[in-house]
Amino acid sequence: MNLKKNIYLVNFFTAIIPILIISMATYFIFSEELEELEEEKIEFISRTIEKYLDEKISNSLEMLIYLEEVYKNEDNYLEAIRNGGSDKERTDHMLHHMGKLSTLENTVKFIAYGTAEKQIFFDKNAGDQNLPSDYDPTTRTWYIGALNSEDYYLSEIFIHVGTKEPVVTISKKIEVNGRVEGVLTALLDLSVISKTLSEYKIGEKGSFFVLDKNNRMLIGSDKDKEKLSYIADMDLNIHEFKKNTPEGKVIYHIYKLKKLDAVLVGVVFEKDLNAPLYRLKDVVFMILVIVILIISTILFIFGKFFDRSLDRLSCIVNSISSGDYTKNIDKLTEMIGEKSELKIIKDAIKNMNYEIVKRETELKYISKTDPLTKIYNRRAIISFIEVEIQRSKNFKSEYTLIMLDLDKFKRLNDKFGHLFGDEVLREVCKIISYNIKDTDKFGRYGGEEFLILLPDTVLSEGIIIAQRLRKKIEEMKWKNDVVVTASMGVIRNMKADTLDLTLERVDNLLYKAKNNGRNRVEYQKI
Ligand code: GH3
Ligand code: MG
Ligand code: MG
Repeated sequence: MNLKKNIYLVNFFTAIIPILIISMATYFIFSEELEELEEEKIEFISRTIEKYLDEKISNSLEMLIYLEEVYKNEDNYLEAIRNGGSDKERTDHMLHHMGKLSTLENTVKFIAYGTAEKQIFFDKNAGDQNLPSDYDPTTRTWYIGALNSEDYYLSEIFIHVGTKEPVVTISKKIEVNGRVEGVLTALLDLSVISKTLSEYKIGEKGSFFVLDKNNRMLIGSDKDKEKLSYIADMDLNIHEFKKNTPEGKVIYHIYKLKKLDAVLVGVVFEKDLNAPLYRLKDVVFMILVIVILIISTILFIFGKFFDRSLDRLSCIVNSISSGDYTKNIDKLTEMIGEKSELKIIKDAIKNMNYEIVKRETELKYISKTDPLTKIYNRRAIISFIEVEIQRSKNFKSEYTLIMLDLDKFKRLNDKFGHLFGDEVLREVCKIISYNIKDTDKFGRYGGEEFLILLPDTVLSEGIIIAQRLRKKIEEMKWKNDVVVTASMGVIRNMKADTLDLTLERVDNLLYKAKNNGRNRVEYQKI
């Protein structure tokens, strides 16, 4: 496990994942809202355009109604009669008004009046209409339509043969005393609407256009006409449809123009629709880059601290492993605070240290101790003697060395058993330990042979101690009235001593004690 790498990864992703989640959620929520918003906008524009068209139609109708009034006006009629007038004069009078009116509304190209007598009159702004000589207005759709309508007749939108512009006619019959005198008609040029439509474009590429009920383009730009291929077969009764085009996904909103029997199509490109989201994406990307940079910097600095701490930690652990325990454990405690996550490691090292120290103490004890008697073993007592020989030479100090051997121990073992022999050995050692100073060293040299080192003790004192010990042993009480005694050799340090010489000298004296009858002390001559 690479702790640092894992910390990096976790930090990295905990910072970046929320940003990604938030931006994705924002993206989905907003894309839906944007679509709804766009739909509302198109609906609003469509209604505005329809209102605009309706206004044009009703303005034109107002004109026709006004002209009808002029035609029918009793005063004018009477005046015309008085002046020997006729229907002709009445018509002329109306035509005079027609010319004036048709200029008031920019959509109205001209107003015409077709009479029941198959005559046609145009207002003075109409220009030359190039009508054939046998033109009969009463056979035209606008005329027949008006005859059959109670109120007025509105034609379908169609492309004018002359101007090639989309036009619509509105016509109204003039009825006097139940007799139709003629039909007034106004030609509305809808090309002005294409300008209005182009003003209401949606996004970069979106547009509006008007189709007739047979999916034919009535109002729209050449570019719009290209789109016709996509919608040629579409059912215009549906409200909205989406289409994948080479330019991207396109959404068509269809709005029925009630009066005109045509549809207004609003075209939006999804790309335009989602433009704010693309901008959002850029911003999110930028934020992400900045966050990554900041996190990387923080993690880099953190990594440096981490490395330094780890270096110190490994230094301390190394020192600990090389045996420098207690001081380094304190350092470790200082470095790893109580609240640190590494406390568990520190505690483990502390425990380990405790165990090591404990075992080391145990090992030290075992390595120095005789298992039966719990006094120093041969190696330990020899090493103490070696040190003391050196010390006596360096500091001119004096020590006494006693070699002690239990008498006839073999016989005791044979008579009372080995276990009893062991007990005797243990108890004798206890008595000896009890009767010497803490600074004295007492060890088992082998079998039932012991060495007692008395530092800073002159020989005379040493002899007294040996005698006292001999007496103590002799006085010990055993079962079956057994008496245990010991023989001892006692020496002091000499200038030329080595370990071997020392041991030889003391052993010789012990041998002498044995030879001289046992249970006695033989010592170096003072
Ligand atoms: P001496 O008076 O000449 O010293 O006679 P001894 O019998 O004591 O001498 P020897 O060296 O012949 O015998 C020593 C005996 O001590 C031999 C052995 O059975 C006994 N011994 C040595 N170590 C132990 C021990 O750990 N436990 C017991 N029970 N006996 C031991
Ligand atoms: Mg013996
Ligand atoms: Mg012996």
